[in-house]
Amino acid sequence: MELDDHAEDLASDLGVDKEEVKDDLQNLVEYSVPIDEAKGSLRRKYGDGQSGGGGTPSAKAIADVDPDESNVTVTGVVLTAGERSIRYQGDDHVIVEGRLADESGVIDYTAWEDFGLEPGDTITAGNAGVREWDGEPELNLGESTSLSFDAESLEVPYEIGGDAQLAELRTGDRAVTIEVDVLEVERRTIDGRDGETEILSGVFGDESGRLPFTNWDPAPEIEDGGPVRIENAYVQEFRGVPEVNVSEFSTVSALDREIAVGSDTRTMAVGEAVRTGGIYDVEVVGNLLAVRDGSGLIQRCPECYRVIQKGQCRTHGDVDGIDDLRVKAILDDGTGTVTVVLDDELTERVYDGTLEDALEQAREAMDQEVVADRIRERIVGREYRVRGHLSVDEYGANLDAETFEESDDDPAARAATFLEEVDA
Ligand SMILES: [Zn+2]
Repeated sequence: MELDDHAEDLASDLGVDKEEVKDDLQNLVEYSVPIDEAKGSLRRKYGDGQSGGGGTPSAKAIADVDPDESNVTVTGVVLTAGERSIRYQGDDHVIVEGRLADESGVIDYTAWEDFGLEPGDTITAGNAGVREWDGEPELNLGESTSLSFDAESLEVPYEIGGDAQLAELRTGDRAVTIEVDVLEVERRTIDGRDGETEILSGVFGDESGRLPFTNWDPAPEIEDGGPVRIENAYVQEFRGVPEVNVSEFSTVSALDREIAVGSDTRTMAVGEAVRTGGIYDVEVVGNLLAVRDGSGLIQRCPECYRVIQKGQCRTHGDVDGIDDLRVKAILDDGTGTVTVVLDDELTERVYDGTLEDALEQAREAMDQEVVADRIRERIVGREYRVRGHLSVDEYGANLDAETFEESDDDPAARAATFLEEVDA
């Protein structure tokens, strides 16, 4: 069914003007709200006929905006305003996204019209639409919004502008400004919405950590590598972790200062890290509770590289498996748990032997579980400091370890080290 038909449907059900409904519907759908949900919210908006669809909503403090209301009037300061292009029904639309604040709080907004919003502007948005995203209210500023710029600027306890460190960035952040070093970059050809197109992808780093990026409109400053300043980037999730998106609307300039990448990488509580929904570069400290099944000496499918059981790949059937080493271990710090995944190199270290040693041990015992058992004996019950990429999905949180070190924060371990030194 076309949008027009949906609008017709709604208008006749609700007894309101079709064009009005269609505008609202279009706004919602453009913002990737599924059509049924969009229709439902418009039924609620125009629905019972008691409150009616008209009338100017009363002014509200930003902290009091409720995701359930349909329209509000708010006054606030534009903290950030970033342009982005989206495609809807074959046409490109430039939208502006950012954050708006008053004394009481901050709210994300999307402007569907070119209002000329700039960071630092104090505005009053009359009849702004409210939508819910991830349980939080957001504002839609569109055709039906009466927007005015206030001469008197509002004092707000929030920083104007989108300056951010990589470790603070979260999926959904808009109009961010970062100063980063280009750590890895490659040019790739992808099948984009306008056919084949070239993009840059790689990894940025700053003092707080690292994050992957995509540069949709290759900037020479990024391709050349080295430190750059980027204004008006946005953050989207890709493969379970946030990714910096540098678009045609972003400004990229070479930066004349050194960046000490990772010098301030933050150690987080496991629970806090998991709640972020995924971090590219994070360090946690916790107790190693258990080594999970499927650890130690394992076999992988030569086609898809997934772990196989008894020579059977779920996709490729009977295969000649490749021997490999890995560990999946449960780490807990009292605030949450993650599954730490160690690759072959880190596994050789905790096993204290090579793949050949492991194969030899398994042959002698006629059981490959002995390899996992030896790893269990060596690491379970100890405290580790792990740094790596955290991804979170419906099956749980996985931390792909880059470094895995026994923690020296443990008083007992410190005492043991001290005693060893004394004995020596
Ligand atoms: Zn396979």
